Amino acid sequence: MSRVAVVTGGTRGIGEAISIMLKDNGFTVAATYAGNDEAANAFSAAHGIKTYKFDVGDFDACETAIAQITADLGPVEVLVNNAGITRDGTMHRMGRDKWDAVIDTNLGSCFNMSRLVIESMREKSFGRIVNIGSINGQAGQYGQVNYAAAKSGIHGFTKALAQEGAGKGITVNAIAPGYVATEMVRAVPAEILEKIIAKIPVGRLGAANDIARGVLFLVADEAEFITGSTLSINGGQHMY
Ligand code: NDP
Repeated sequence: MSRVAVVTGGTRGIGEAISIMLKDNGFTVAATYAGNDEAANAFSAAHGIKTYKFDVGDFDACETAIAQITADLGPVEVLVNNAGITRDGTMHRMGRDKWDAVIDTNLGSCFNMSRLVIESMREKSFGRIVNIGSINGQAGQYGQVNYAAAKSGIHGFTKALAQEGAGKGITVNAIAPGYVATEMVRAVPAEILEKIIAKIPVGRLGAANDIARGVLFLVADEAEFITGSTLSINGGQHMY
């Protein structure tokens, strides 16, 4: 049986690795993205994974997309809420626009997407939801009140929804990645990157596949007893 999995932000970075790992392990994957058609088309051509373009912060757009994915592939059984953005700035310089953008995209998306699949998961008495949080949601980070609040919110969201799903075969877990070598992190100046790596006991940045392995573990049918947990994958940088 091939379970239908949706990976938001599944065409680049960590999400790309998750999409590929799920496909390689027998899932039927829908990878979503916001606007980078070039990356999405290259990804789809290379890996034969269907892509869907919409804003995860927009409930109506999510509703239309979930309806399309369901028509194309079947009801969603696995949801990976991975799409996320940063709009950094210290509080005394941050406009409300940066707050709203990060809360809507990183946290509002978890509500939107989960709300739209939870009823069919309940009907099937099966579901796997994995929300991608962050080390910076656990520990905070200078210049990221918006991002840390959204990611911290994901961890509370996960525990509450896990309680609602537990009697219905639906598990809800989070992964809190440390610094992972995606485009976003590779763009950080070398001297700052060196300082970050010096704080990681394992001595390197994470790879996208390090996170994807955690997702694969949590979405397995056999992982039915793991719910409401946060798996920290950060090279020992923050033991929480
Ligand atoms: P990337 O910037 O490499 O990729 C982000 C993906 O999300 C892209 O596919 C992008 O689409 C999509 N996306 C962004 N905004 C939206 C939106 N509004 N609607 C739909 N899709 C959207 O991110 P990473 O791979 O680095 O990060 C993935 C997740 O992991 C994020 O939640 C991030 O916060 C978290 N994380 C990352 C860490 C890191 O070190 N990289 C550390 C800890 C957590 P498009 O290609 O169209 O832009």
